Parts: sequence; C-alpha cells; structure tokens
Amino acid sequence: MNDEFYMDLALRAAWRYQALTLPNPAVGCVLLDRGGRILGIGVHKKAGFLHAEANAVFAALCDLDVNFAQDFAREYARKFGVKFQNLEALKSALLQPSFTYDFILNRHGGLLHGACAYVTLEPCAHRGKTPSCAELLAQLGLSRVVIGARDTNAQAAGGAEILRRGGIEVKFDICSAGATELAEPFYLAREGGFCFIKINAALNGAVHGRIGSEKQRAFVHELRGVCDYVGVGGQTVRADRPTLDVRAAKFDEISASAGRADMSALDACAVPQNLKPRAPDVWIYSRRALSDFDASIPLFGVEGRKVEVSQSLPAGAKITMIEAGASSFDEFAQFASHALIFYSAQMRDGENFRSNSVLRLLFISRAGDPHLEANEFYGWFKILK
Ligand SMILES: [Zn+2]
Repeated sequence: MNDEFYMDLALRAAWRYQALTLPNPAVGCVLLDRGGRILGIGVHKKAGFLHAEANAVFAALCDLDVNFAQDFAREYARKFGVKFQNLEALKSALLQPSFTYDFILNRHGGLLHGACAYVTLEPCAHRGKTPSCAELLAQLGLSRVVIGARDTNAQAAGGAEILRRGGIEVKFDICSAGATELAEPFYLAREGGFCFIKINAALNGAVHGRIGSEKQRAFVHELRGVCDYVGVGGQTVRADRPTLDVRAAKFDEISASAGRADMSALDACAVPQNLKPRAPDVWIYSRRALSDFDASIPLFGVEGRKVEVSQSLPAGAKITMIEAGASSFDEFAQFASHALIFYSAQMRDGENFRSNSVLRLLFISRAGDPHLEANEFYGWFKILK
C-alpha cells in the first residue's frame, strides 16, 4: 500500500460529510501504526465539534486501550449525562471538543508514538478553546504526517511548521487534486459563496412524487441547517406548498447513541446553543413579486425567516442549496458550482428531470452510507457547463 491508497481512504471518508461541515472544511484523517496497520479513521462532521485528526486519534485510542474507552465513557456520562450503548456508538458520536481533547492529552499513554497520519488538509494551527490539530499530533509523538492539500486559510495555516518543529516528517501534495476538490466548497463559501443544486430522482431520472426515505430527508434537513439560503423555483412553491424547514434534522449519530432521557442533558451541555439547526432563509427564483404568492404556503410561516423573491442569488448568500424541480436544473446551473443528486433504487413512470448540463463526478456514496437507507445513494458533481 502506498501513500495514495491511504489518502484516498481519508478523502472518501470525508466526502460523506461534504457541506455538513460548513462553514468549516470537510476533512478526513487515517492513522497508521509503525507497521502500516490502520489504527483509526476520523472525519470532521460538524462545525463546533472535533476535527478529523482528533476523531481519528480518539477512535484509535478507544481500540488500543479498553480502559481509555471505558474511563472516557464513565467521565463523559458523569459530566454531560450522555451514555453510549457500545464502543461503536461512542466512536461515532459528536463529542464535546474541549473535554475530549483534554482527555486525549491526559490519557494517550504514548500509544500513538511513531504513528503516521494521512490528512486531506493541512492540520490546523489555530489555537482556540482546544489545542490545534498540529499541536495535538506533535504532542502524541507521531513520526510522519502526510497532507493532501495545503491550508490557504490565513487563520488556520502554519500547521506543517508546528509539526516539523515537533520533529515530525511532513509530506505534502499526496492526491492533491482530490484533496483540493474536497476542500473547494469550503473555500467557495468563505470567498464568494457556495451554491449547489440538490435533486432527488428515481434510477431512471424520474422526479415525480415523493422520492427518498426518512433518513434521506433527515440528511437534507441537516444540509438546510448549515445553509443561509434554500433556493426554490416559484412554480415548485405554488405546486408543492413546501415548508423548507429543518424539523427532521438530527445531531447525527449522537441522537441514536444517547438514550431519550439523556437528550435534555445533551442539549444543555454538550451542544452549544448556536449549533442547533436553524431554518434557512428562502430565495424564490421567480419573475413575480412576493405579494403574488399565497401567504398561507407553509414556508412563509417559519419563524425568524426571511423570504426573498428575485431572479438572482440573494446578495451576501454564503451557503445556498437550491432544491430543483423537474425542469429547473439548467436554469439554476447558472448560479451553482456543484450538484448533489440523490437516487433511489426504483423506477418511476413519471416525468424525468430535464437537463443538458455537463457534470463531473466527484464522489459517489456506497451501500452503508450512514445518511441513507441501503437502496439509496447519492453523488456530488461539479457542474462544468
Ligand atoms: Zn484542526
């Protein structure tokens, strides 16, 4: 196995959380021991929670030292009132970051000394409430860090320098094209704005009627929760009378792993208030005026929401998901750089979505993706023209 093989693993793990991490980048990390055995795979899942490197380190330490995992679970339950059903639930939960970092630093026991990390983006150098990932890896005594893309974010860059000062061999630009593609939505959101089209289709391209499971719906609502605008065509608004809120969004695995009785404690302690998903503002793409729409359509009744009707992206929109209908893909493609297409493994005898756009496949989900049922998959595409 070469460097590219492990970097590709890290890239594919990270793509499963593409856009969900915004305004942070999607990042993946694979940790190997000296003998080349995989110790842990970690991804960044949500802004405000652990970075990929820390998640990989945490997963590795849980597997290497049963006392580490048990003691962590016990202390976490005491502090936050959250219990985990099993080791897998613990390893995949959204954990409170500063508590987890401190626990790792106090209890790693030198187990990762000499390990090697593959990280899709240069480990961050920014020290906030928790140490930077570069400092974390240096303190754990890793021997080598392989990096996909350099971090051009002024606040976070400089990680490689910290690693080198810590005596770690740093190798850059492994799968750099793929790593740059993975990070592109983050840079777009930060610089001018990231806008993507989402569409749900049956295998034959039909978009008629409701397609997609409850799990897929929760995924879409989580995506809405990171967007400042959801875009929708005027015709769709009139025909479907949508709500476009985030009611089905969950805190991912943590809601499954923590018992119902524990959720109130979780809300109070582990999840900062400002991370609760908020329904995005709505941009209705239409020539008409706002007053031409029936005000009893549910999307207008969502509290604290702004609705704009215009033929161009709202000024200042940083993250926009356009929920396209059967005939609007190409029209919306003038605003969007990427497309997220959900497929359900069924055929429908109905209208297909119509488009002449040229796309490039960036990532396709596999069976077992945590966000979908087994008969569903999705692809992230770059819109070329
Ligand atoms: Zn970091």
